[in-house]
Amino acid sequence: MLELNASKVLLLCVVLAMSAEKESSSSWIEENRTRIIKISDEIWELAELGLIEFKSSKILADELERNGFKVERGVAGMPTAFVASWGSSKPVISILGEFDALPGLSQKKAPSKEPLHLGKPGHGCGHNIHGTSGMAAAVAIKNAMQKHRIGGTVKFFGCPAEENFNGKVFMVRDGCFSGVDAVLSHHPGDMNCATLKSCLSLDNVKFSFFGKSAHAGGSPHQGRSALDAVELMNVGVNYLREHVIQDARIHYVVEKGGEQPNIVPDYARSWYYVRAPERDQVEYLYNWVLDIAEGATKMTRTEMKYESMGGLYNLIPNKTICKKITSNMREIGVPKYDEEDLEFAQKISESIPPEMKYEEMKESKRPNWESLLDKLLDDEVPDPWGEGLVSHGSTDVADVSWQIPAVEFSTATWVLGTPGHSWQNVAQSGVGIGHKSLIFAAKVMAATSIDLLTDTELLKRANKEHKQRLAGKEYKSPLPLGIQPPLDIWNKSV
Ligand SMILES: [Zn+2]
Repeated sequence: MLELNASKVLLLCVVLAMSAEKESSSSWIEENRTRIIKISDEIWELAELGLIEFKSSKILADELERNGFKVERGVAGMPTAFVASWGSSKPVISILGEFDALPGLSQKKAPSKEPLHLGKPGHGCGHNIHGTSGMAAAVAIKNAMQKHRIGGTVKFFGCPAEENFNGKVFMVRDGCFSGVDAVLSHHPGDMNCATLKSCLSLDNVKFSFFGKSAHAGGSPHQGRSALDAVELMNVGVNYLREHVIQDARIHYVVEKGGEQPNIVPDYARSWYYVRAPERDQVEYLYNWVLDIAEGATKMTRTEMKYESMGGLYNLIPNKTICKKITSNMREIGVPKYDEEDLEFAQKISESIPPEMKYEEMKESKRPNWESLLDKLLDDEVPDPWGEGLVSHGSTDVADVSWQIPAVEFSTATWVLGTPGHSWQNVAQSGVGIGHKSLIFAAKVMAATSIDLLTDTELLKRANKEHKQRLAGKEYKSPLPLGIQPPLDIWNKSV
């Protein structure tokens, strides 16, 4: 049995007690809990696609403005991008918020697959929570700063189109982050954690092939098929796969493949992502893929044009900030679930095959991951892990992390093992489990920002680590020169 004398109890109380500043930010979030959840649910209902998240972006920007933030709208050439600032002195602590949905994932707030609006978008990555947790944290920090006379500035970045057009890369290129000292971001996940993993760098490119149309039955010899070129290019790339490094990823869709079988297609288009852990590895593979596309034109006597849509860097982790996030998560305490939450979670878990959950948990490489196999929801906060590991997705938070110390942490929004970008994610992001994750994340983000604002040594250590990890490597925007965000993308028919 654990025995504690009076002095040890006192010490424990001091260790566990939150500072008055963090108490203030957490209390503000608790007092405004209903409103914060309502905003997240409104954005969930809207489920707007990247670059056209007009209403979602406005909801967040208006809320910040109402709370005394100075809001600059339409930054970096994107009408839905904005920067909301409060304060005027150093340090400048920033929070990122996303709010875009994914196409075709509409889903009811139900634990079985049931589209809300068939074929329409849904929040399959929980960005309704991403934007709202950050917004709530920003306002809570401002209130704590006012109440406790904390100096500094808090900035909220409304970041569009994370899922497709990488809004933050444009914001980085256009200098939106200059003067910022540290960045925090929260992403819904199936674990409560801040890891040291990096993620894959990426290049995004479209290939258009041009042939000659002809009657496919009567005079095929007069035609040159653009679709053949697309297919032969894909075959070439699929042979390339054997010779790429283990962590590389190459994937494509055929966007346009012709009109009907009796016409030799004179136009076809494919869309590729090329990913690898380091930027130069991506560039190496990207050039190889371009060569294969050239090869396909020679085989088919067609012509080809490619259009680079930009790219992403790999993520630079920051252990100093991750450790602080972890201690704040533990201090605040993970959410407590009620019967309704657990019943919903149980039904969702029944839609996830055990072998899929096993692979997900194993792949996370979280120490002692086996202990999660019998759990529905993550109820722990592990130490930061994953130094030297790379997760196989990509994010534009990475490009921000090359400028300044930046960490994106996750809180348990989804049942353990839930696949990414799925109907299960949409459903859970709009119900009790998601709401609790949202409130928890906002409190953690506010508390960690207060640490960064008040502890100059912490910020110095985070910066020193950032410099060491970069080791003098320079960031060159992966965007083609002069490219602007493709604002009309959803209007294009071909
Ligand atoms: Zn996401």
